[in-house]
Amino acid sequence: MSDRYETDVLVVGSGPAGALIANLLVRRGVNVLLAEKGSDIERNFRGETIAARSVLTLRELGFGPKLASHGFVELEGISFWEKGKNIMSMDYRRFPIDALPIDIPQPAMIGAFNDSSAAYPNFKLLMGYQFTSLIEEGDAIKGARLEGPDGQILEVRSRLVIAADGRFSLVRKASGLKVKITPMERDFVWFKFPRPSGWAHESQLVVKKDRHLVILPTFPDLLRIGYNLPKKGFGDARKQGIAAFRDSISDLDPRLKDLVNQHIQSWNDTSFLEIFTAEVDQWSRDGLLLIGDASHTATPILGQGVNLALQDTIYFAPVIEEALKNSTGPLPSTALEPTANVRRAHKAMVTKFQRLQEANLAQSSALGTMMRRARMRLLNLNPAKYRLMDKVMNAPHNMPMEALHGRVA
Ligand SMILES: Cc1cc2nc3c(=O)[nH]c(=O)nc-3n(C[C@H](O)[C@H](O)[C@H](O)COP(=O)(O)OP(=O)(O)OC[C@H]3O[C@@H](n4cnc5c(N)ncnc54)[C@H](O)[C@@H]3O)c2cc1C
Repeated sequence: MSDRYETDVLVVGSGPAGALIANLLVRRGVNVLLAEKGSDIERNFRGETIAARSVLTLRELGFGPKLASHGFVELEGISFWEKGKNIMSMDYRRFPIDALPIDIPQPAMIGAFNDSSAAYPNFKLLMGYQFTSLIEEGDAIKGARLEGPDGQILEVRSRLVIAADGRFSLVRKASGLKVKITPMERDFVWFKFPRPSGWAHESQLVVKKDRHLVILPTFPDLLRIGYNLPKKGFGDARKQGIAAFRDSISDLDPRLKDLVNQHIQSWNDTSFLEIFTAEVDQWSRDGLLLIGDASHTATPILGQGVNLALQDTIYFAPVIEEALKNSTGPLPSTALEPTANVRRAHKAMVTKFQRLQEANLAQSSALGTMMRRARMRLLNLNPAKYRLMDKVMNAPHNMPMEALHGRVA
């Protein structure tokens, strides 16, 4: 490959957001170069839950058979446990939406997107290429420089650079767009082990004072478990040792004792996740757009990160296609920001809910935990809980259908 390349759109990062926006654009006849820094798309600890709205969207886009042939776990509900008692539960089958959330490893989903894109001559994928800097002329962005696997620099000229490079986005940093990072009070450690037979296909939150476990049934027959730690507390946990870590999990949920002892042998069996939210007031400059975690990192509560990332692409694909046709040179920010406003409202609603939940879960005093139990019990008795959760979990409810129809493969 020469050291210069020209395309309509350069997408940086082949996560859920980057791989799907690339696919939706190539279907629309746009020339796309997708650059991913990893040499493959394997990833073990990432968002694997796809919310029901995105499941419907992916079916509509024609990905249903591919995802089904890989296999996934359908999540039928959620329950909240304290002191060994189930104090709140919800059956997802009662939501007014024709799908359940599914759990599927990210490589399977991203692979489906990239395989579909590979059938189009206007698509090019570069694995092992990482973004290094933007090409700026005047106030506009006219492409980016990528470093290839052997250290070679590739200069890519494009009318739009899409930053889909995740929660620590370097493109966002290089763009100068302002980001507000708000750390949550706690961080997370993730681990996985085999799912006991008969374990319900539901997400469980197990709480003891200000400690909690999120237990998710994961494909093919695993449990994926997130355990909260005090902010920056991973260092302390490591100092206390893996045996103390195992004991604290078993203390929180005695059902897990044997599994934890058998499968968590070292810190290599765990993955640390720093929890913060990122909010960006402006997602674009002339010639540049941020999507997915690069524009709006969320917390793991209710597993909305992948949903937000996928829905960004649905909204932006037709807008980008139109703007490419109706302008010359770098895509104007004015064509992108109205859609960014719509997407920011979705993210803001999710973040508001997640902050309330985080405050609820962080209660440690006797009074605070008693009030939490009372709130959860009241919520459990209130049929309006389905309306409330549907609003957050199954958003957006007013999807632009033109994004889904037209050139569906
Ligand atoms: C441990 C963990 C557990 C999570 N659990 C959940 C969950 O249960 N449910 C949920 O919905 N969300 C969860 N999330 C969040 C979810 O994974 C993200 O919201 C989602 O993956 C965002 O998609 P994205 O495409 O925007 O970014 P990412 O998935 O982060 O993808 C970004 C891509 O860009 C690439 N990249 C980065 N820098 C560069 C560069 N300089 N040049 C080129 N490529 C680059 C990366 O290699 C990556 O492939 C979790 C995240 C983590 C880390």
